[in-house]
Amino acid sequence: MAERIASQLNKKVLVVEKRNHIGGNAYDEYDEHGILVHRYGPHIFHTNSKEVFDYLSQFTEWRFYEHKVLAKIGKELYPIPINRLTLNKLYKLNLTSEKEVAEYYDSVRENRYPVKNSEDIIVNQVGVDLFEKFFKNYTKKQWNLEPKELAPSVCGRIPVRTNDDCRYFTDKYQFMPKEGYTKMFELMLKHKNIEILLNTDYKSVVDGIEYDKMIYSGPIDYFFDYKYGKLPYRSIRFEWETYKREYYHFAAVVNHVDFDIPFTRVTEYKYLTEQSSVYTSISKEYPQLEGEPYYPVHTEKNKKLFNAYYEETKMLKNVLFCGRLGVYKYYNMDQVVANSLKIFKTIIRVV
Ligand code: UDP
Repeated sequence: MAERIASQLNKKVLVVEKRNHIGGNAYDEYDEHGILVHRYGPHIFHTNSKEVFDYLSQFTEWRFYEHKVLAKIGKELYPIPINRLTLNKLYKLNLTSEKEVAEYYDSVRENRYPVKNSEDIIVNQVGVDLFEKFFKNYTKKQWNLEPKELAPSVCGRIPVRTNDDCRYFTDKYQFMPKEGYTKMFELMLKHKNIEILLNTDYKSVVDGIEYDKMIYSGPIDYFFDYKYGKLPYRSIRFEWETYKREYYHFAAVVNHVDFDIPFTRVTEYKYLTEQSSVYTSISKEYPQLEGEPYYPVHTEKNKKLFNAYYEETKMLKNVLFCGRLGVYKYYNMDQVVANSLKIFKTIIRVV
């Protein structure tokens, strides 16, 4: 939003950032062993939108990258999203065609109609056993909720496949910014009209600043001083480890889907960046309630609470809400960009 307003409308923009760096949770930096890591967990850019891809391409070159994830059950690793290879390995089957795989799913799936929650959406496709093995525990660890308490869109992010496609995403554009996300954001914000104020909570300066419009991308409940109560955002604690060896494990990300393992996923950043080094750095994710907000928690109750706040936003003439925290949506990065470009178009119409 800052880049668009500064470059297209030639207006002055002040970016106020609570943290000591730009880029929000997509921030990346080199750790003390020279490995480029994503400080707030793996960010994998993927989109079907040419508009989003072309827009970001002004600020970065790209490196082709297709993300792959393995799920660990006991000592074994399986492709996730669940596909033909997952079934064959897990159940010692020999399914050879997509038709056979589809028939397998048909033989185990349960009709859940209407699909009301994250349990229904998975069981409806692959039945209880696969749901319990791959989704139930991971989801419980990630959200501290049962899948049936979460909207279908949460587990519904993960497709179910009849083929051998082991990629996590199938979007048309799958690339990582060549020099990393932070470099891309630096270039975006490098404009004579943009000033950046780090280490500053906007509430501590807002009364002393004159502005035509405020674009707010922080937590929406904080904006309204929690007047209807706190909206839960799921947070993550990271444990970082570096090893003096080429690789730590066999994929960019391993999802630990067993309940007795306290962390959810382990990311090995060298796979994401294709850096060569004698070291390799990993992060283990421990989801938690307290801490920096990462994820909106999509339950019926939270939707109602968000709607109460959302109604309030309609009363404000000069504040626009965007981003995951501002609109309490489980946006991917490309959706954040797409939505911001859309909001920008509404601004152009009125200035
Ligand atoms: N999920 C799961 N098992 C997996 C992968 C995902 O149960 O192996 C569920 C879990 O509830 C997770 C959600 O699907 O929070 C979305 O997964 P995704 O990988 O998109 O999460 P993100 O990358 O946004 O953390």
